[in-house]
Parts: sequence; C-alpha cells; structure tokens
Amino acid sequence: MPHTTESPLSFSSLSLAEELLKAVEKIGFEQPTPVQQQAVPPALEHKDLLVSAETGSGKTAAFLLPTLHHLLSRRSTLFGTRALILAPTRELAQQTYNQCRALAEFTELKIGLITGGEDFKQQQGALRRNAEIIIATPGRLLELINQDAADFSHLDVLILDEADRMLDMGFSDDVLAIAGHCNDERQTLLFSATLTHYGVIKIADRILKNHYKTVALNTLHDGHSNIQQQIVLADDNDHKQKLLAWILLNETYDKALVFTNTRLKAVELQGPLRGQKLRVGVLHGEMDQKDRNRMMSLFRDGIVNIVVSTDLAARGLDVKGVNLVINFDVPRNGIDYIHRIGRTGRADEQGLAVALVKSTEWNLMSGIQRFLKQKFERRTIKELEGSYKGPKKLKSSGKAAGSKIKREPKKAAAEKVKIRHRDKKNIGKRRAPSNKPDINPAS
Ligand code: AMP
Repeated sequence: MPHTTESPLSFSSLSLAEELLKAVEKIGFEQPTPVQQQAVPPALEHKDLLVSAETGSGKTAAFLLPTLHHLLSRRSTLFGTRALILAPTRELAQQTYNQCRALAEFTELKIGLITGGEDFKQQQGALRRNAEIIIATPGRLLELINQDAADFSHLDVLILDEADRMLDMGFSDDVLAIAGHCNDERQTLLFSATLTHYGVIKIADRILKNHYKTVALNTLHDGHSNIQQQIVLADDNDHKQKLLAWILLNETYDKALVFTNTRLKAVELQGPLRGQKLRVGVLHGEMDQKDRNRMMSLFRDGIVNIVVSTDLAARGLDVKGVNLVINFDVPRNGIDYIHRIGRTGRADEQGLAVALVKSTEWNLMSGIQRFLKQKFERRTIKELEGSYKGPKKLKSSGKAAGSKIKREPKKAAAEKVKIRHRDKKNIGKRRAPSNKPDINPAS
C-alpha cells in the first residue's frame, strides 16, 4: 500500500468528476498518493507527461483518473476508441482493466481488454462494439490494427504503462507503430519505473509533444538502467580538459557526445580535442540550421564520431551508436541530466555516462543523484589523478557539510578571459558564441 501520510491534497481538491469521486470513495482510497498528487493536475490540463513511478505507488489511478475525467467531460459522438492504454504483459493489462472498471463503475464508459492468448474474434468484437477505453498489450493490438480492426484516429489519450519494461521486452517498434496509427493531436502519458533507461527518453522524444512535463518520483535504483553512470572528480577546467581527452582517447565507443552548459565552452573544447587527432564537431544553438544539419549528418555517417554540444542537442537527438556521454559541465538539474544521458545506449547495449565534477559542482551533482535516487560510481583515472577528493564531510543529503563554495583560482579566471578574447578575434566578423545557456527555442 502506498504511503499517503504526508499528502496535503484530498481527492475532491483534484477537481475530478463526481462519478469518479464516488468510485474512489467506494474503493476506499482516502488521499491521493504522491504520484497521483503530482501527475493528476497536469494530466487534467491535457499536458503530455513523462512520469517515473514504481508499481505500488498508485500510478495506475494516476493515469486512469484524469483520463476518465477527460472522457466524461468531453463527450464525443465520433466512432472509435478515445483512450488507449498499452501495458507490457497480460497480467498488468488485466490488473489495469480491473482498476479501470472499478473507477468507472458509476459511468457509462465501455472498456475493452485486448491481450495475446485470448480469443482473437472476441477481441475484434470488443473493438467493433466501440469501447471508449482499450487496454492492450502491444503485440496483439498491432495484429488487430494490421487487419483494420481498430480505429485510433479520434484518440484523445494514449498511455504507455511500464514503458521501460515494454522496451526491455522488445516492443519498441510495435509501440512506435501503434503510436503512428493514433491521432496526432492526442495527449500522451508515458509511465516508467526509471527514467535513466536506454529507450525511454528516446521514445518520449518520438511520441510526446515537445513541451512535455517530466514528473520524477520513486525512481528505482535497482540496476534497471542500461546506462552505467560514473563520476570523475576534477580540480578545475584545465584538469577537466585533460580528463576529457584521456577518456575520449582510451574508452571503447562508437560515438560520443560531450555536453557543456554554454556555447562558448563547446566551441573552446573543439580545438584542443582536434589537436589530439580526435574527429570532433560542435553543435549549439547559435549555428544556423544548415550548419547544424551538416554536423548531424557527419555524426550520423560516423565521419565525425565525437560531438561537443550544449543541451540543445540533448532533446530529440537520436543517433545510432552513441554509447558514451561525457558531461564536461554538470547539468543544471536532474531533468537535463536524464535528457543528456538518454542519448546513449541501445536495446542490446550498455551505455556509459561520465560526469566530470569539480568542487563547485559537487552539491549540484549530489542533488541530481538524490533526484534520481541513484548513487553513481566514483571513478579515478590514475594517470590524471587530481588533488580534489570530494568534500571532507558530507551532510545526510550527500551535500558538502559546512563548505563555502570555492571560487576558481584567479589565474584560471584570467585565462578564461584571455581565451574569450582570442576566440572573438579568431571568429572575426562572425558572432562569438555566448557564455549563456543554450536553450533550444523549439524545445
Ligand atoms: P499501482 O501502483 O497502480 O499498481 O497501485 C498499487 C496499489 O495501490 C493498488 O492496489 C491500488 O489499488 C492502491 N492505490 C492506488 N491509489 C491509492 C490511494 N490513493 N490510496 C490507497 N491505495 C491506493
């Protein structure tokens, strides 16, 4: 049973339809669980969501309640399914079906269950009888779609439950094919136990709308992730540059992405890496679209196998063979972190994500680990071991105890200014890349 003791909200304050509140009361749910509190309000606004929640957290009701509310508040006379819920296994689909029936008890909504192993003809019939809600496993549903037995052109809501498991079971192509048959204007809710999974972020980029909201809760630390995550401590940016070159020269990978927080830093890193004979390109938001496309195709074709990029490239970028991500700068928050590392790994492979962390970034990095409920492996590169070994004392939160933020040494700061001037000169008439965060206007 999920814990609900700290819940400040009640179900009635979630503005759900009367029929649903009556069902919730009859079932005996007293207060919304944390995932219900966080996911129901944006889902009711019809936003696309990526939600991390474990089984047992109350996630099923977190997507069923806003979906049922939506169907009740916007009646439709059109033929066809209005909500589709995909689940990885028959058992989960059956459980979701049972919960959906209980929550919809005081409504007239029709619910259909479509899973492998059951009678095909009967399931065709369920679709013909025009159930508003279909709960299905992807394989069987796709068979029915291929026989023109299903119509999702008026779909209002698509839900992917336990998306990580669905991808682990090899359903990625089926899920994309099914989403391709659904109304483009629909709302999509994607639930996954973990967000640091090779395919979840990629599939989110493909099927959620650009401005989807991420709700991170109860993320598992059970090794579900296919991405090995490491931290390498660094003394300063010079040290980071040496570590970066070492990793790129010594790790085994097909393609690598290096992330910086600013355009300027991305540009600065390119030269020294090229000097090491690495095949490096840069991608950031001040480049015009033609140059960006050119860089993407060089990267896709493997002519360039390392791209230094700002967060601009983190969203939506899907290049095969990226199995190494290096965070030169620690990203500003956990959501950016998962978007960055989500570029690596494929169904049958492990990805590696390495973050270079200096003392001023320690607390940010520990916040990201806390957000993900994960503890990353600490890696030391013997050849380049620095003097920074992490805080002497830690708070229970993992942050440094009693430490003031250390400023960069004056010499390094002066060097930075010098580099900036030099780059400005070199770039000539072209605009120098700014030191501001690179934010994709389209994301
Ligand atoms: P789920 O994470 O959706 O598999 O739900 C786990 C269990 O929690 C199920 O047995 C639900 O019936 C139950 N549950 C869901 N929401 C609540 C709630 N607000 N209060 C108490 N139990 C709940």
